[in-house]
Amino acid sequence: MATADPPLCPRCAAPMLPVIYGFPVPETIAQVEAGQAVAVLGGCMRRPEGTAWRCLRCTS
Ligand SMILES: [Zn+2]
Repeated sequence: MATADPPLCPRCAAPMLPVIYGFPVPETIAQVEAGQAVAVLGGCMRRPEGTAWRCLRCTS
């Protein structure tokens, strides 16, 4: 899976993580569970606007 440059948080300028809705691929789940946060699991709620981004530093 190609990874585009994540947008930076408008508050603290930290790279933001994509929020995955629905069923993330097993590789992503493994990475998150291993503490290598590459994404935020957003549960099964989907947003019609597409990819959402979350900042883990200031949780904006
Ligand atoms: Zn932030």
